[in-house]
Amino acid sequence: MSKEKRTMDALRLYGPMDMRLETLDIPECGEDEMLLRVLGCGICGSDLKNFAGGHEWNVPPEERFIETPVTAGHEFYGEIVAKGSRVEGYEVGERMISEQIIPCGNCRFCQSGQYWMCQNLRMYGFQNEANGGFAQYMKIHRRGVNHHVPKEVTVEQAALIEPYACGMHAVERARIQHDDIVVVSGLGAIGLSMVASARLAIPRKIIGLDLRENRRALALKFGADLVLDPSQCDVVKEIRGLTGGYGCDVYLEAAGSEASVSQGLAAVRNLGRYVQFGIFSRDIMANWNIIGDEKELDVLGSHLGPRCFDAVISGIASGLLPTQGVVTHKFGLEQWDEAYRTAVEDPEAIKVVIVPNGT
Ligand SMILES: [Zn+2]
Ligand SMILES: [Zn+2]
Repeated sequence: MSKEKRTMDALRLYGPMDMRLETLDIPECGEDEMLLRVLGCGICGSDLKNFAGGHEWNVPPEERFIETPVTAGHEFYGEIVAKGSRVEGYEVGERMISEQIIPCGNCRFCQSGQYWMCQNLRMYGFQNEANGGFAQYMKIHRRGVNHHVPKEVTVEQAALIEPYACGMHAVERARIQHDDIVVVSGLGAIGLSMVASARLAIPRKIIGLDLRENRRALALKFGADLVLDPSQCDVVKEIRGLTGGYGCDVYLEAAGSEASVSQGLAAVRNLGRYVQFGIFSRDIMANWNIIGDEKELDVLGSHLGPRCFDAVISGIASGLLPTQGVVTHKFGLEQWDEAYRTAVEDPEAIKVVIVPNGT
């Protein structure tokens, strides 16, 4: 880093609909930290929801998970420009990524290796000691879950590592068998990665569901055998028709919509597996009787992408996990407004990436 450069641009969230592009001092790198020059940071659905308001804000400030003001962005990737004396295994000049959370290392879940369920976790882009990647520089803690990224992985690909890890974890939760018919509902970056990860398990059939044509087209390229538009057909009827009337074996919910939940509970077969990954901005309604009284389902939650990052990085690097076409837009920090608007409103947008230091 040149000696003259002491300040950086950072996108700071102050509250719902209140985001500010500010000039801050480049953070000092403590002895347990690395300083990262951010090469790219994807906009996640949670970033959009935090900005728009909703669940996250409907609690008193002292109980909120999000602490403001905070530099947003957790789908970051970058190059190490400085490191503290106690950081081992990483060198200046290397590229790396860190999982979204900094686990405490001490709680019952951390102690038993289930670090992604840490009771005292800090999440990048949500708290000030873990400022996120919508800035030219950010600090990474050595206690975080850090991974090397080879140089041949492009910025576009690297911005997909975190969402792809989330998709892969959900697919692991589904315990897909070769005879299964797998439905993925919602074909954003994470849903598309579920299709790609599920394909590596070679199930009987993968069916993708999405309202948008471009996403369905990409799902076919990524390994879906069939795609359906829920606005144009009775998806449950179609799935039953394809499965001798039984329903699908696995339903992966990655849309985060109420309709997709009811559709999934209806589409899955008796004793089937329903995996919930999508996030809702409010409480939703569904017929809960289907889970117990009717079908004896395995309903499985899925959160984050634990123990999947290295597999995703090698899968992307080798081409086993396709990425072409998922990053649809790139914007500089100063264009954040347009970037957020594009992510919400542009029907062609899939993953929008902020590139804080230019391309
Ligand atoms: Zn995310
Ligand atoms: Zn913990």
